[in-house]
Amino acid sequence: MSAADTARGASHLIDPHGGVLIDRTVSGSEAAALAEQAAGLPSVRLTEKQTADLDMIASGALSPLTGFMNQADYTAVVEGMHLDNGVPWALPVTLSVESAPAGDRIALEGFEGGLLAVLDVEEVFEADRENEAAKVYRTTEEAHPGVAQIYAEGGLLVGGKVTVFQRPEPAFPKLHMDPADTRAAFEERGWTRVVGFQTRNPVHRAHEYIQKCALETVDGLLLHPLVGKTKGDDVPAEVRVQCYEVLLENYYPADRTLLSAFPAAMRYAGPREAVWHAICRKNYGCSHFIVGRDHAGVGSYYGTYDAHHIFDEFEPHELDIEPMFFDHTFFCRTCGNMASNKTCPHPSDHHVFLSGTKVREMLGNGEMPPPEFSRAEVAQVLIEAYRQS
Ligand SMILES: [Zn+2]
Repeated sequence: MSAADTARGASHLIDPHGGVLIDRTVSGSEAAALAEQAAGLPSVRLTEKQTADLDMIASGALSPLTGFMNQADYTAVVEGMHLDNGVPWALPVTLSVESAPAGDRIALEGFEGGLLAVLDVEEVFEADRENEAAKVYRTTEEAHPGVAQIYAEGGLLVGGKVTVFQRPEPAFPKLHMDPADTRAAFEERGWTRVVGFQTRNPVHRAHEYIQKCALETVDGLLLHPLVGKTKGDDVPAEVRVQCYEVLLENYYPADRTLLSAFPAAMRYAGPREAVWHAICRKNYGCSHFIVGRDHAGVGSYYGTYDAHHIFDEFEPHELDIEPMFFDHTFFCRTCGNMASNKTCPHPSDHHVFLSGTKVREMLGNGEMPPPEFSRAEVAQVLIEAYRQS
């Protein structure tokens, strides 16, 4: 056996962010004992977003975080996109409370009820949410859903390590995989270079093209749709998951693709969230991450390529995971294939273009968009969903 063969047996996956995959869960009798203790503690009811954050801390998806942020980390992240220890980090992960907890340990209750964890109180501090909005969301307008959310949470925050004895019920049990699980799956398949794709929308031909362009250069694709809390007008997660399933079944090689749910709540923080999404995917074992146009944006708060440019604010290789930037893509009738302005010289009247509004209108009327825009199987799922809504 050659040295190369021997080496192939070892994990060549990218290291988790900060070097170690965090696990803040306890199980068995330890979990039972902690649950019993938690029942006697003052408790804080988490929002849906905070519940998702807690669960991602527990699983290591937010490594190196071990709890909700204290003031030093919060300030370093808001002001300079790094944790206090210098590790890059893009979004505050905080727990708000109505009043300062009395004891040094509190119980955390999930948004659907039921105690999940304890938090050892390190610090209670007052955050300047307007400053956070300006720096993280690039706007202080309450019309921005992410900003509205932090304003609603309020400024009193509690920081400290969490220990989770009960994981919340996943939104999609059959698509639930923790970072340790995706890493094991990648290793089992012999993948080293893996590209992650984040989406909260149905996948049309343009996304398929981008994913496959990326897949041409790596070993595997992690299709990682966000199934956490989103704005009310996004396509429901169960419909989206059905779209991914029919697409993968018919058009993707099973041994090169893994579909799993990303349990995060959307913040719509645009560029900052793109970096955060990349860091999370690194924890799931991805070496590459696709960043599209207006990634994690909302309305017209961010420039089309802001989510690309923000990666330049980090030193080369500081994030380790490699962002892959893609432009708007479309089918060009003259080229006879999918393309972007980078690869097609023809004016836009040669391109198959449909606005989001137009597509929704067609699907709502039971009409199939052109096959150059959407796979028939995907369109069928969406038409059916509109019919039932
Ligand atoms: Zn063309």
